[in-house]
Amino acid sequence: MKYVSTRGSAPILDFEQVLLAGLAEDGGLYVPQSWPQFSADELRAMRGLSYVEIARRVMTPFIGDAIAPADFARIVEDAYAGFDHKAVTPLKQLDQNFWVLELFHGPTLAFKDVALQLLGRLFDHVLTKRGERVTIVGATSGDTGSAAIEACRDRASIDIFILHPRGRTSEVQRRQMTTVLSSNVHNIALEGTFDDCQDQVKAMFNDPAFRASQRLSAVNSINWARIMAQIVYYIAAGVALGAPDRRIAFSVPTGNFGNVYAAYAAKQMGLPIEKLVVGSNRNDILTRFFNSGEMKITGVEPSLSPSMDIQVSSNFERLLFDMMDRDGRQLAETMTSFRASGSFAVGDNQLGNAKQLFEAHRIDDAQTQDIIRTIHAETGEILDPHTAVGVGAGRAVSLDPDIALIALACAHPAKFPDAVEQATGIRPALPRHLADLYEREERVTVLPNDLAALQKYVSEKTRLKGAA
Ligand SMILES: *Cc1c(COP(=O)(O)O)cnc(C)c1O
Repeated sequence: MKYVSTRGSAPILDFEQVLLAGLAEDGGLYVPQSWPQFSADELRAMRGLSYVEIARRVMTPFIGDAIAPADFARIVEDAYAGFDHKAVTPLKQLDQNFWVLELFHGPTLAFKDVALQLLGRLFDHVLTKRGERVTIVGATSGDTGSAAIEACRDRASIDIFILHPRGRTSEVQRRQMTTVLSSNVHNIALEGTFDDCQDQVKAMFNDPAFRASQRLSAVNSINWARIMAQIVYYIAAGVALGAPDRRIAFSVPTGNFGNVYAAYAAKQMGLPIEKLVVGSNRNDILTRFFNSGEMKITGVEPSLSPSMDIQVSSNFERLLFDMMDRDGRQLAETMTSFRASGSFAVGDNQLGNAKQLFEAHRIDDAQTQDIIRTIHAETGEILDPHTAVGVGAGRAVSLDPDIALIALACAHPAKFPDAVEQATGIRPALPRHLADLYEREERVTVLPNDLAALQKYVSEKTRLKGAA
C-alpha cells in the first residue's frame, strides 16, 4: 500500500515511512492511494471473530509487507490485551434500534487509547528494526497526555516528555499521567498555561539543532496509523449487528474529525453505512459547514466536552481531498486561502454529495446535560458529556426505523465526574483498574516557562544521551 499527501506535492510513501512521518512535507495529510476493499462475504466472515482477529484482517492491507504477519498479529494482540473488557469495544443496547459502542475500556478511559495503544507498539517495532530511537514531546491540557504516555511507557525505542500547565488540570487527569513511573516517561508541570505548554513544544520543534539531536517526534492526531486503527471498531460493530445484511448508521461526537473520518474510511472499504451523524458542541465549525457549505473560523469557547473544543478540525482535510476528487493542487490552494482569510466554501454539488452521507448537529451544554439526565432516567446508563453530544446528535436525525443507530461512547463518565454529577446527582466511580489512583505514587518535575531550562531537562533525561 502506498500513501499520497492531500496537498499533492510530497513524496509518495509506504506504511513504515508514513507511520514515522506524521504530517507530509507539503503540509498535507497522508491517505491511502486507494481503499482496500472487503466484499460482503468477507465482512460476513468476520461475524463472531475476536476484536483482535478483526483488527488484524482490517489493517493488514494498509500495512502491506512493512511488518511481518506474525509480528503484526502479536503487536495487535498485545495492544488490546490491557483493555478491561474482553470484547475490547463492546456494544450496549439502549433502545430497540439504538446502541452505544463503548470505546473507553483502555488504560486512560477514552477512545484515543484504541489507536494509541497500537501506535506506540508500531512505532517501537519499526524503530527497533531500523536501530533508531525517538523522543516524543507533547503538550496537554490534561486529556490527551495520559493516552500518549500510556502508549509509549516502557517502549525500548521511545522517550516521552509531556508538558501540562501546573495546577490547571483536574486531579484525575494529573494523576493519570504522573503515576506512570516508567523510566522513559517524563511529566513536566510547567509554570504557565496550556498555551505556554504548546508554545514551548512548538519552540522545541522549531529549533533545528535540538530537533535533530533529540530526534523529536510526535504522536499527533493526524498520523495515518491512528485513523487506520479506528476503522476497525466501525467494522467490528457493524458486522456484530448484522451488516452488510442490516442497515446501520453511526453518530460520532467530533473535534478534529479523526474519529468520524475513520467511519467514512470503513464505508469506502465496503461497510454499508446509511448515515454518519456528526455531533459538535458549541464549537460548531463542522455543523455550520455541513449546513451551509462554508468552513469559517470563529473563537473557541470552553464547553462541558473539552476534547471537542477545537477551532479547526485538522482531519477534515482528508475528507475534503475526496470531495475535491483528490485534486491535491486545488486542495492546497483552498487551505492556503483558508489560512489567510479564515474561511472557504465548497460548491453546491460537493456539499450535496457529502450530505448524502453526513448530517451534522450542534448540541450545546444545556442539551448535553439534558441528554445525560434523560438517558440515565430511561436506561440507567451514565454517559460522559462527549458521548452525550453524539447521542443527542443521533437522536436529532430522522432515520428509517429499521436502521440500527450506533452512537460512539468516547470517554468513561468517571473522566468527567463534575458534569455527570451535575446532570444526574451521581458521581461516577473509577473502574477497578484505576480504583487506587488516589493512593498511587506520583512523579513530576516542575519547570519554569523557559525554553533553555526545558531543553536542558529533555537532553539530560533522554536515553539518547551520548548516542548521537
Ligand atoms: C479526542 C476526543 C474526541 C474528538 O475526537 P476527534 O477524533 O478529534 O473528532 C471526542 N471525545 C473524546 C472523549 C475525545 O477524547
